Amino acid sequence: KFITFEGPDGAGKTTVLKLVAEQLNEILGDQMILTREPGGNPISEQIRNIILDRKNTEMDVRTEALLYAAARRQHLVETILPALQSDKIVLCDRYVDSSIAYQGAGREIGEQEVADMNLFATGGLTPDLTLYFEVPVTVGLARIKQHRAADDVDRLDLEKQAFHDRVHSAYEKLAQENPERIRTIDATQPVEKVVNETLMILKQALNK
Ligand code: C5P
Ligand code: MG
Repeated sequence: KFITFEGPDGAGKTTVLKLVAEQLNEILGDQMILTREPGGNPISEQIRNIILDRKNTEMDVRTEALLYAAARRQHLVETILPALQSDKIVLCDRYVDSSIAYQGAGREIGEQEVADMNLFATGGLTPDLTLYFEVPVTVGLARIKQHRAADDVDRLDLEKQAFHDRVHSAYEKLAQENPERIRTIDATQPVEKVVNETLMILKQALNK
């Protein structure tokens, strides 16, 4: 099974996933892997460094989208597909939905175009289940200002409210359009509650 985790900035996805994976690991052991794009392989890491290079202000938005898709492709081939072929449960922090939301809507390339481009990159491999950690934009941004390093906050301020509003709307639309695949979790709840709800959904989906 291929399970992805999605959500806007400040949803607490990283914190929750770490706790969830620890508990799931006790049940599943080496039958599961937790991974995140770019996935730690040298090629994807190099691509990611190009994207994240803050001095690289001239990067065209489509170039950015292509680079995310390229890093995703390599992570898919090196990590996700081999694990799925050995019948492992793959938990992946962000996947195509992130690009549809951030590049498609946030950067205004268009959701359909980014979806189409990722179809090429992934060969159409779609998650069996996606957990979408939902928080309103104002809540997410407030959390980031509290918890993250100053330069991260600066970057987020630069990206402005409107950008995050577009990202959030795109996630909402994806959830509405894919009700069988995407489960929405209210991530404004306390971390323990979000963790418990996430574990419940995963155990149910995995018959554990
Ligand atoms: O997963 P995480 O929250 O650490 O992602 C870090 C940031 O990378 C996101 O908040 C977003 O700004 C950016 N990102 C992006 N496009 C993607 C994936 C991530 O712009 N496809
Ligand atoms: Mg995170």
